[in-house]
Amino acid sequence: MYPRLLNSLDLQAFTEAARNVPYQQLKAGFFPDLDVWVRRDDLIDPLISGNKAYKLIFNLLDARDKGAKTIITCGGAWSNHIHAIAAAGSRFGFKTIGIVRGERPAKLSATLQDAERFGMQLMFVTRSLYRQRGKEDFLRQVGLELDAAYFVPEGGANLAGVRGIQLLGQVIEETAPVDFDQVWVACGTGATFAGLYSSISSAPVIGVEVLKAGDSTLEQVRRWLGSIYLSSCKGGGDKQVKHQFQLASIDEFLLGGHHFGGYGKYPGELRGFQEFFEVSINTPLDPIYTVKLMAALAKNDDYFGSPYKCRVLIVHSGGLQGRRGYDLSCL
Ligand SMILES: *Cc1c(COP(=O)(O)O)cnc(C)c1O
Repeated sequence: MYPRLLNSLDLQAFTEAARNVPYQQLKAGFFPDLDVWVRRDDLIDPLISGNKAYKLIFNLLDARDKGAKTIITCGGAWSNHIHAIAAAGSRFGFKTIGIVRGERPAKLSATLQDAERFGMQLMFVTRSLYRQRGKEDFLRQVGLELDAAYFVPEGGANLAGVRGIQLLGQVIEETAPVDFDQVWVACGTGATFAGLYSSISSAPVIGVEVLKAGDSTLEQVRRWLGSIYLSSCKGGGDKQVKHQFQLASIDEFLLGGHHFGGYGKYPGELRGFQEFFEVSINTPLDPIYTVKLMAALAKNDDYFGSPYKCRVLIVHSGGLQGRRGYDLSCL
C-alpha cells in the first residue's frame, strides 16, 4: 500500500485521491463476532493525513479563492492539525502561522519541529489568551490582524471542515467494497462525526469520544448538523423530517466512556492493547484517537449480539505522526 499524494490544490484531484484510498479487511480472529474493515485514510497523504486532509480541503480552496497569502491556526504541541496545515502551506504556497499555548519550550515536540521545518511561524501565547481562541476578536487579541490572512480554527473544526468530511462520506458510499452494517469513527471536536453522520445513509455512523467531553461534543455536533440541514432544506419537506429525526436520536450514536482517563491519556492498559493489536493485525494506530476507537470496538464486540457477523467499517483518521510523542515505533 502506497500513500497517495495530494499534489495539487484541486477538488477533482482530491476526490480522485480519496476514491483511491484502500479498504483493508482485518483478518478474522481479533474481533471474533465481527467482520471489520479499515478504510486507510491515513494513507491519503503522508503529511496532510487522515481526516485533517478532508477538513482542510474546502478551507484551503476558500483561502485561495479569497486571495489569502497566510493561513493562521492554533493547536497543541502534538497537534495533527498544526502538522497538516504547516505541510499544506508549504505544498500549496501559503505562509502559515501556528498559535500554540504556553511558553516556547527549550526543546520543541517533533510535531512542532516539523511544522517549523515546513515553514510555519510558531507563536506561543499565554494560557489565558489561548482560551480566547474561539472568540471573534482572537486574532486582534494576539496581535495578528494581518492583511490577506485566513483563519482556520483548532482541529479544522468549522463548517467548511464538516463539508470536507461529507465529501469523504460520499466517497465511502461510492467506493465501499461490501455493504457495511455500521461505520465507526473517533471523535474529538465531533466535526468528523457530524460530516459522516450527515452524508452516509447506507449505514448508521457511530462516534467514539476520546475525551471527557460530556455534552459539549453533542451540542457542537447538533449545531453543525442544524446548519447543514437548514441550508439544504429549502423546500424539501422530506429532508426536514429526516433532519428532526436525526437530531433527536443523535446522542445514541455517540459513545462516551472510552477515553481512558481523558484526552491524550495513555495508560499501560491502552499501550498493551495497542501493541497486541498491531502485532496481530499489522496496522498502525495513532495513540490519541484511533487506538481508543479500536479499544471501544473490542469492548463492544459482543454487544452486537447477532448470529450474523456484523460488518463494521472503521475510518482510520490518521494521526500517525503523533506516535512519536508516546515512544511508539514507526511501523
Ligand atoms: C483530529 C483527529 C480526530 C478528531 O476529529 P474531530 O473532527 O475533531 O472529531 C480523529 N482522529 C485523528 C487521527 C485526528 O487527528
